[in-house]
Amino acid sequence: MSPAQTIQLLRDELNTHNYNYYVLDNATISDFDFDIKLKELEQLEKENPLLFDANSPTQRVGGTVTRNFKTLVHKNRMYSLDNSYSKEDLLEWEKRVEKVLGSTALEYTCELKFDGASINLTYENGQFVKAVTRGDGFQGDEVTNNIKTIRSIPLSLKSSFVHDFEMRGEIILPLDGFKKMNAERLANGEEEYRNPRNTASGSLKLQDSSEVAKRPLDCLLYQIVTSERKYKTHFESLENARQVGFKVPKSIKLVKSIDQVFDFVNYWDEQRHKLPYETDGIVIKVNDLQQQEELGYTAKAPRWAIAYKFKAAQVTTVLNEITYQVGRTGAITPVANLEPVQLAGTTVKRASLHNADQIEKLDIREKDTVFVEKGGEIIPKITGVDFTKRAIDSKPTKYTHTCPECDTMLVRTVGDAKHYCPNEFGCAPQITGRIQHYISRKAMDIDGLGGETVDLLRKEGLIQNYADLYELTVEQVIPLERMAEKSAQNMINGIEKSKEISFEKVLFALGIRFVGETVAKKLAKHFKSIDNLMAATLVALIDVDEIGDRIAQSIIDFSSDLGNIQLINRLKSYGLQLEVSAEILENQTEVLKGAVFVVSGVFYQMSRNELKKAIEDNGGKVSASISKKTNFIVAGENMGPSKLMKAQDLGIEIISEQDFIDKIS
Ligand code: AMP
Ligand code: ZN
Repeated sequence: MSPAQTIQLLRDELNTHNYNYYVLDNATISDFDFDIKLKELEQLEKENPLLFDANSPTQRVGGTVTRNFKTLVHKNRMYSLDNSYSKEDLLEWEKRVEKVLGSTALEYTCELKFDGASINLTYENGQFVKAVTRGDGFQGDEVTNNIKTIRSIPLSLKSSFVHDFEMRGEIILPLDGFKKMNAERLANGEEEYRNPRNTASGSLKLQDSSEVAKRPLDCLLYQIVTSERKYKTHFESLENARQVGFKVPKSIKLVKSIDQVFDFVNYWDEQRHKLPYETDGIVIKVNDLQQQEELGYTAKAPRWAIAYKFKAAQVTTVLNEITYQVGRTGAITPVANLEPVQLAGTTVKRASLHNADQIEKLDIREKDTVFVEKGGEIIPKITGVDFTKRAIDSKPTKYTHTCPECDTMLVRTVGDAKHYCPNEFGCAPQITGRIQHYISRKAMDIDGLGGETVDLLRKEGLIQNYADLYELTVEQVIPLERMAEKSAQNMINGIEKSKEISFEKVLFALGIRFVGETVAKKLAKHFKSIDNLMAATLVALIDVDEIGDRIAQSIIDFSSDLGNIQLINRLKSYGLQLEVSAEILENQTEVLKGAVFVVSGVFYQMSRNELKKAIEDNGGKVSASISKKTNFIVAGENMGPSKLMKAQDLGIEIISEQDFIDKIS
């Protein structure tokens, strides 16, 4: 097979796996095998630059940086939708439609109205060409490179379809992905994103497409725009679009009357809370494309479609009191304590007020009657005040100046929406929060010690910081509530065992603001010890790949604090891993520097992964497929014959597992 053929085969295969997984939700290959094939394709493409294809599956990982997004005029305008709120509204719309068409036997499609950012995808001859945001409907921003990273969007179609067309759809962020992103931000001490919709549309304008690739975005398609008359109806065109690779939601339904539209509305008004993403209504469209054309457009919307907005479940209740919460990083969140009220199946007692600006904007005061809503979102929010019910002697809310926990004056830096309590070492929730983070699963993963116990230990005056954990004794712990000798012993053992946890995890556990898991790994690898890290200058920090000003400054702040210096010295004295272990360092040499290895076959002295790691630890590179650039092939048993031949053709040195071990020792 020629390289061109192999490349084509791999691309087709990977495209099919992507489609099966992201569109049909049916995995047909393991992640591991997918990666291997992708690497193989990458390598082949590198060796055959003439066969480059902007729509190859290898182009989905991102990496391009766009400083200024180009503005492009839409070939076909992107209209908005008229809204309706009741069955009467829909019946009136039907009348208007019938007046134009003079017809009564109408068919409609019912679709969910997805709450995200609309996008216009252009395809020519089965190939993805570009993606443009809606903008003002006439022109938008070209975000092609960012859109390519969304795996559910086909870059080349599976089989023949309309030749030239635009595909319209919505870029959304599914709820569980959104929650995951926020959990990560919290762990890094960053403020959470407000809602999936804004996060999705913000993602489209990120400058670095590899950042977009990391976000769990999805794209649901709902409209084909073309001058070709291949299909008679909207429904048919979408069903076919799904066949050739587009993610067209299965919820689309063909109906024959407004009554049936209403059945659809009622069904989804309840079921929408179970969907994996947010919807704020449904969209009804005249199904026949010829009829759509006859109906045409008003100044801002098609006459052949209408949106029906779900009523956000809303109630009013009394706001009893505004209290303030302090997070692990000292961030203050104002909370509305409400007279308990039933809303969309749950009792609501509290709602976040986010920050001082939000309270001021809505002019929210204690004892006010407020509107509480649960729309497409999961978390109830306060949307306004019923001013007619406000008492005459009511006074504007004075946002707290001091920390509710420790009375320290709050600070608020310019550009920050939140107030902070600066009393890092004396403020109870910050102390507890930091220790809870320290012991958490992704950090020190201490067995036998939970978040509540940490709080209890602090209240009893037994711990003030994470270093204090290492001075605890079984005798001190046993008298605590719900502790028995066994559980106390488990806890002390767990703490003792954490001394073996690797440096990168300890670094993450320290809870330095903005130093999340990945950043901690990077820093550990680069600086090798806490001493090097804490002695590093701002310039040296920024010099590290992917470390920006904000993270660097945060590390400088941490390192120059006397309290932190003392803490670190104590951790050292207890024997925690505050440098990359000698074992790892010892195994890291440069003896293989610059050499490219391919590993093939079955091995006995070490596993395949150990072998690869050993290559990298010693300065070598691992490649998935054989090429001119390969220097060595480590051949185990049962190495594939085609690989063997290729290696011999290219004159690459083939070495055994034992040869390799001799090389590095
Ligand atoms: P609006 O922004 O309220 O004018 O509503 C129009 C927007 O609804 C369009 O720009 C699309 O982004 C979005 N939308 C979501 N789902 C659909 C759908 N199934 N059909 C058409 N538009 C939709
Ligand atoms: Zn405080």
